[in-house]
Amino acid sequence: MSDPSAQPAAARPVPKPWIAAIHPYVPGKSTGTDGRVLIKLSANENPLGTSPLARAARLGSGAGAGDPARYPDPESHALRGALGALHGIDAARIVMGTGSDELLNLAAQAFAGPGDEVLYQRYGFSVYEIAARRCGAEPVVAADRDYAADVDVLLGAVTARTRVVFLANPNNPTGSYLPRAELARLHAGLPSDVLFVVDQAYAEYVDADAEDGALDLAAAAENVLVTRTFSKIYGLAGERVGWATGAPHLIDMLNRIRGPFNITVTAQAAALAALDDQTFVAASREHNRAERTRFVAALAALGNHGLRPLPSEANFVLIEFTGAFTAEQAYNGLMDHGFITRWLPGQGLPQCLRITIGTADEMDRVAAVLRQMAEVAR
Ligand SMILES: *Cc1c(COP(=O)(O)O)cnc(C)c1O
Repeated sequence: MSDPSAQPAAARPVPKPWIAAIHPYVPGKSTGTDGRVLIKLSANENPLGTSPLARAARLGSGAGAGDPARYPDPESHALRGALGALHGIDAARIVMGTGSDELLNLAAQAFAGPGDEVLYQRYGFSVYEIAARRCGAEPVVAADRDYAADVDVLLGAVTARTRVVFLANPNNPTGSYLPRAELARLHAGLPSDVLFVVDQAYAEYVDADAEDGALDLAAAAENVLVTRTFSKIYGLAGERVGWATGAPHLIDMLNRIRGPFNITVTAQAAALAALDDQTFVAASREHNRAERTRFVAALAALGNHGLRPLPSEANFVLIEFTGAFTAEQAYNGLMDHGFITRWLPGQGLPQCLRITIGTADEMDRVAAVLRQMAEVAR
């Protein structure tokens, strides 16, 4: 036996350098620095809450809530079947994830590794950098065009080492949206051995006639994966349910590495019931459209104070502050008035504030606080 005292005192497990290089994901906060509970407009959750049907299913009064002593269905059969029926997709081409976050990470891990590149736009979703680094690949950031994805710049950044391209459409935190023709052009310009992941976390907020066509690409192409979530319009962020669809060989790889029982009994029951309540989904979409329009109009009515709301197809608005009144002042002022929003210096956006669309009353009050502060700062 070797003498344990011969070990250097400082010896300890050495993390992989690509893991040590990760900055942890920063979630939207719900309390102020003083611990006060604030009205949360920082995480793009549904201000209408959750469908009452989903709530009931979650509490076990609905059918199929299941026995907590037993493992959940590892393949989420009922849920995948219902998703397939709703979206016209063969359930065999659907894989569930513990939130779409799990699937974004698995997509990078399955198709990229050390020496490879993972490409996305500047001001893309912050999980992409983590997903790239987690598997040892190199994150590559393509320049944006006025906060939106630029197809030519993205295609110009593809190299022989590019293995995965991520695009959130609509994008978080900018709200920008690539229309169908541009998305198709981006896909057509990518080598066929590059995995194109279209993250549609906010797709249900987009008008049906403005659909980006990603699900059609995922149905037809060998290299397109679309991810969706129950966290946003379905109001189930706390249950952690996401899904992805694409060619069977892609789904097969994700199934090999996902958590075997990754969707809990309650989450499967709640998501299934939520899917059944498309009335709630439609009401949430209508609420969002109306309140986003009204909020942007209220900002426009502020006049020339340097607040520029960027065009958004999602359930939030990113405001660029170009004048004397800064995003940091707005963030702190809103916090003083009981609202937590998302200021993004860590993502290279110290000039911007992202505000989730809340209830009508909340948006009126947020607009009033911003008006008051803009006038003082002038
Ligand atoms: C919120 C969000 C998600 C959803 O993550 P979940 O893990 O499903 O909660 C995915 N992508 C983007 C761009 C998002 O903003």
